[in-house]
Amino acid sequence: MAKLFIEDLELKGKRVLIRVDFNIPLDENQNITDDTRIKSALPTIKYVVEHGGKAILMSHLGRPKGQANSKYSLAVAAPRLSKLIGKKVVFVDDCIGQKVKNAVTRMNDGDILLLENLRFYPGEEKGDDAFAGELASLGDVYIDDAFGTAHRAHASMVGVTKFIDRCAAGYLLKKEIEYLGRAVRDPKRPFVAIMGGAKVSDKIKVIESLIEKVDAVLIGGAMAYTFLKVKGIPVGSSRVEEIIEDKKGNKINVPELVNSILKKASLTKVDILLPIDHIEGDKFAEDANVKVVGQSGIENGWMGLDIADGTIKLFSEKIKEAGTVVWNGPMGVFEMELFAKGTMAVAKALAESDAVSIVGGGDSVAAINKSGLAGKITHISTGGGASLEYLEGKELPGISALSDK
Ligand code: AMP
Repeated sequence: MAKLFIEDLELKGKRVLIRVDFNIPLDENQNITDDTRIKSALPTIKYVVEHGGKAILMSHLGRPKGQANSKYSLAVAAPRLSKLIGKKVVFVDDCIGQKVKNAVTRMNDGDILLLENLRFYPGEEKGDDAFAGELASLGDVYIDDAFGTAHRAHASMVGVTKFIDRCAAGYLLKKEIEYLGRAVRDPKRPFVAIMGGAKVSDKIKVIESLIEKVDAVLIGGAMAYTFLKVKGIPVGSSRVEEIIEDKKGNKINVPELVNSILKKASLTKVDILLPIDHIEGDKFAEDANVKVVGQSGIENGWMGLDIADGTIKLFSEKIKEAGTVVWNGPMGVFEMELFAKGTMAVAKALAESDAVSIVGGGDSVAAINKSGLAGKITHISTGGGASLEYLEGKELPGISALSDK
C-alpha cells in the first residue's frame, strides 16, 4: 500500500487518535444486537495498546443529525469493547472540549479512551475544519480504521489529517483495500457481480462501471424490475425508479441509463442476467397472498417480491462457474419469511462455490450470517457504500487523505 500503515508509526508514549467504525446496530433498549464492527477494530486497538500508545477512539453511531441525543450514545460500546479486549475502557461523554482534553491528559501508556458520538456535532458530517482541528488536538498521530465511512469526506476522516503529520491506515482498512483491490485489479475469471436491494440510485452507477470489469452481472431485488420494465416485461406494482438524483443533485433518467447499460453490455459481451421467474405478492406484507410467475412478468395489482426457483437455479449455476463473485443487496424482501428464499439461496450458492467471494452491504452480510455460512466467504466487507464505491473504481476520500509512505 502506498499509504502509511499502522506498523510504520512510532507509538510508544504517543496519543494515538483512532477513527473506528462503531456504528453498531442497537435494539429499542439500546442493547447491541451485533458487535462485528467492534470485533473488526480489535487488531488495530490491540496493536496500539501493546506498543505503548494511548488509544483514543472516535466513531459515529446512527444519524443524530448534528445534535446530542442519548439514543445514539456510544456509551454502550465501552463495556463491550472492554469485555472483548480484556482491558479497562474509559468513556467520556463528549468528543471535543476541556472535559475530553482532561481525560486524555489522565491517560497512561496503553490506556484506552472512547469518545462520544462524533455526529453530535454538525461539523463532523460537514467536514468542518474548526471541528476537525479540535479533534486533531487530541492526538500526536492518527490512524483510520473506519472503512465503512471511508467514502465520506467527514471531519474525523479527512479534516483531521490536515492537522496531524503522520496519518496511517489501520489493519481493517488495509485488509478491506487489499481484498477489494485485488478483486478489481486482477480478478480470477469469470468475474460475476450480483446486485440486489431496493435503491437503484445507489447501485446503477456501480453496475455501469462494473460492466467494464466483470463477465456477468446478476440482478435481483427490486432493482430487477426497473431493468425488466425497460425491456418491456410487465412489472405490475413492483417498485421501480424512473428519475433519480445523484449525490450532487443531478437528475438521472433511469430508463435511459438502463438502456445504455444493456447496449454497452451486449457490445462487450457481458451477460446481464435478470430474473426469469418471481414470487409475487398482492401486498407488501407478511400475510400477502403469493403466486409464482414466469417470463410473462408480474400481473396488474401484484408486485415482485422475491426471485423464484428458476432464477435461483440460473443464478446458482453462474455462481458455481465463477472465479470471483462480489455480492451487494438482497434478492427479495428477505426481512419477511415469505420472500427470503432467493436471498438465502444466493448466500448458500456463494458459500458452496470455490470462487473468491466478497460480500458487502448490511443486508447481504446479515443474510450470510443468518445462513451460518459466513466462514465460507473469502471476505465480508464492513462497508456497504464504501465497498461499492471502491469497486466502482472511485477514490475514497478517507483513504486519499492518509499520509503517503
Ligand atoms: P438496499 O438498501 O438498496 O440494498 O435495499 C435493501 C432493501 O431492499 C431490503 O430492505 C429489501 O427488503 C428490499 N427489497 C429487496 N427486494 C425487493 C423487492 N422486490 N421489492 C421491494 N423491496 C425489495
